[in-house]
Amino acid sequence: VDKLHEALAAWQPPEKVHVALNNHAYDVLIGKDLIDRAGRWLAPLLPQKRVVIITDEHVATLHLPRLERALAETNIRFDTLQVPRGEGSKSFSCYSDLMNRVLALGIERHTTIVALGGGVVGDLAGFIAATALRGLPFVQIPTTLLSQVDSSVGGKTGINAPAGKNLIGAFHQPIAVLADSSTLATLPRRERVAGYAEILKAGLIGDPDLFAWCEAHGADVLDGNPQALTEAVRRACAFKAKVVTQDERETASQNGRALLNLGHTFGHALEAEMGYDGRLLHGEAVSIGLQMAMKLSVELGYAKETDLERLDKHLTQLDMPKSIRRLGNHFSATTLIENMMRDKKMKDGKLTFILLRGIGKAFTNRDVELGPVRVLLEDAGCAP
Ligand code: NAD
Ligand code: MG
Repeated sequence: VDKLHEALAAWQPPEKVHVALNNHAYDVLIGKDLIDRAGRWLAPLLPQKRVVIITDEHVATLHLPRLERALAETNIRFDTLQVPRGEGSKSFSCYSDLMNRVLALGIERHTTIVALGGGVVGDLAGFIAATALRGLPFVQIPTTLLSQVDSSVGGKTGINAPAGKNLIGAFHQPIAVLADSSTLATLPRRERVAGYAEILKAGLIGDPDLFAWCEAHGADVLDGNPQALTEAVRRACAFKAKVVTQDERETASQNGRALLNLGHTFGHALEAEMGYDGRLLHGEAVSIGLQMAMKLSVELGYAKETDLERLDKHLTQLDMPKSIRRLGNHFSATTLIENMMRDKKMKDGKLTFILLRGIGKAFTNRDVELGPVRVLLEDAGCAP
């Protein structure tokens, strides 16, 4: 009984970020041990007391038992399907195999797909939910910092094609997101760093308060401090929610959802060269990309040298990736620029860059000449 009292006294209601999309508004719940009460949070939202959990083999060993227990306690029927961990699972063959396994369970239109895992599981399970029986209800339980602050909010789902990453997919909004901060305790620091880059990105794009908060608390986030993690996730989700509600399907020609690609034009170009085998994590590439985007913005006269100094100081203090040189790969500026031009963010054959007029002031620019980009890359140590 004492234990129960203690637990009740320590219990805090989760933070809530409302994603106010017109036809499918939903809440992101953020807090400790949400998975242990998943049944309680989900039961009122599920159209049928039946779910299919999709997770990866690694997350399954860490966090699946808690989820299954919580669902069982609330009489929610579940089946669980596991895929191998890693980007390789976002493939056609894994998708088709998984789809067949889902269909073999005899699911119905009201069966909910629950993604338990990082962005890989979220994107894959989300695409299954978007396409099985022409669309099933979907719940995200993101377990990496990156997926809690980025991929679980906004409704983009999909898989990779041999021709490139995330080229096959659909918009499919979840009915709920449970961001359980206690899952992040098992996350390697390197994965926290990668997720943190997307948080910092949000601040740089349009939330100078968040950037200042990062300057004060970023080290705690990287150290895995639970309060700092919860606060960072809440702030970054609130920012992303605002952006995606204003431009749900990335159709705005200016300053809409595309702003979320700050640092990604450079980042993707580096990732394409390094491969997706874990040598360079997406968030690490973004971290470098943020610094490059700021440098280019200063170079082109949009941002001040002092803005670059402030970002550089923060990245240096936290030992975040910021230099292409340190990757120890021999990049060619020409190849990197070719990679940028293959990006699906191209429009009418022109490169779109997200640039900065200062911290918290990102904007879309379609007229960046390739010359300054090349100079920047060569200054960063790339061969011509
Ligand atoms: P991930 O899903 O591969 O997870 C990284 C690794 O961490 C995996 O090996 C996983 O098994 C492990 N892991 C997950 N949770 C853990 C935990 N709690 N403790 C210990 N280990 C854990 O990678 P990610 O960084 O979460 O996501 C990357 C993917 O997200 C990419 O495929 C990217 O394209 C996608 N993405 C999608 C969107 C979107 O809007 N849909 C946005 C950003 C990224
Ligand atoms: Mg990203």
